Amino acid sequence: MKLHEHQAKELLARRGVPVPKGGVASTPEEAGRVAGEVGGSVVVKAQVHAGGRGKAGGIRLASSPAEAQEAAASMIGTRLVTHQTGPEGVPVRSVLVEEAVDGAMELYLGVVTDGAAGGVVVIASQAGGVDIEEVAASTPERILRVEIDPTVGLRDYQGRKAAYALGLDARLVRTVAGLIGGLYETFVELDCSLVEINPLVVTRDDRALAVDAKINLDDDALFRHRGLAELRDEAQEDPKEVEAGNAGVSYVKLDGSVGCIVNGAGLAMATMDVVGGAGARPANFLDVGGGADEAQVAKALSIILSDDGVEKVLVNIFGGILRCDVAARGLIMASEAMPRAARPMVVRMLGTNAEEGRRLLAESGLDIRLVHDLNEAAEAIAG
Ligand code: GDP
Ligand code: MN
Repeated sequence: MKLHEHQAKELLARRGVPVPKGGVASTPEEAGRVAGEVGGSVVVKAQVHAGGRGKAGGIRLASSPAEAQEAAASMIGTRLVTHQTGPEGVPVRSVLVEEAVDGAMELYLGVVTDGAAGGVVVIASQAGGVDIEEVAASTPERILRVEIDPTVGLRDYQGRKAAYALGLDARLVRTVAGLIGGLYETFVELDCSLVEINPLVVTRDDRALAVDAKINLDDDALFRHRGLAELRDEAQEDPKEVEAGNAGVSYVKLDGSVGCIVNGAGLAMATMDVVGGAGARPANFLDVGGGADEAQVAKALSIILSDDGVEKVLVNIFGGILRCDVAARGLIMASEAMPRAARPMVVRMLGTNAEEGRRLLAESGLDIRLVHDLNEAAEAIAG
């Protein structure tokens, strides 16, 4: 789950990370009021779950409350399209109004889980700001990675090492090392998958401030943090993914043409590889879960059929707790509910009640090709 910048900053500030003075506003008038309270020049920042706002017009400097109000009016109620969103963009429903920071340097700091490293990695770079992706691609040597053993936690020398890599004065190294400690503490306490400050701005009067902040939370750990779940903003998410999530189905939209329905995340990924191997591209990742019922399978198919990019559907069910006849009934239920959206289906079913499931599908009158293994499935997808 992603958080908004203002939410992330509040959580970080509580753990000692310095952030600019400001507040969130959901109307232009409120934005003007906050600007007046902050005083002086402010930045007005669209609150969306996407980076790249600076280049997309989602960040505006204002030198008076009236200007801040006007900047907020130009953003609130619109959709912002950045290089991290789809062409339809994401809705701007609030803005963050903050003191404008006069920066001498823009640095990058991040804490992420790294599966390959088997732990947590602190990332630091002198080349922070809006082009960090470009830096990572073309000059990766400008990015320092410090691997943290999660059983030991962040050691003081590791924080200092990362701070030194930022080319700071000795005095600031201590401050920034402490700030990295605050990021790491936030990361661990809140079960994050990402905590990122980009840019960390060093001001001309030698303060280090988190000018932008991003936090992603691990959904599987949300139950441990009741208060955090309330910070979710579904309006920022793909409506189909929200609908699937509410039904207990994991769905991630992709841009290929073969819809996939599978039970089990590993099997779902293997199935996507089969689609790729057949020269096609998956339209989604979808895992109905090991214990799905008829309604969940039906919901999964209806979500896939409502994607106009889908030309074929590949179903790969390994019957266990989810019996194949139950899956078959779900598929038939959704197909009959939306007959005009029907697409050819390729179905592989194995395991509990597979014969019954296959019989139901064969007798359904739907355009379904039953296959016995993944090679045959690949041929049917390619053909
Ligand atoms: P992003 O583009 O979505 O990552 O949004 P950021 O909050 O990182 O802002 C993008 C860029 O706008 C930053 O890298 C800064 O250069 C600039 N910016 C944002 N806030 C301020 C501010 O308070 N003062 C100044 N001078 N620049 C800012
Ligand atoms: Mn940023």
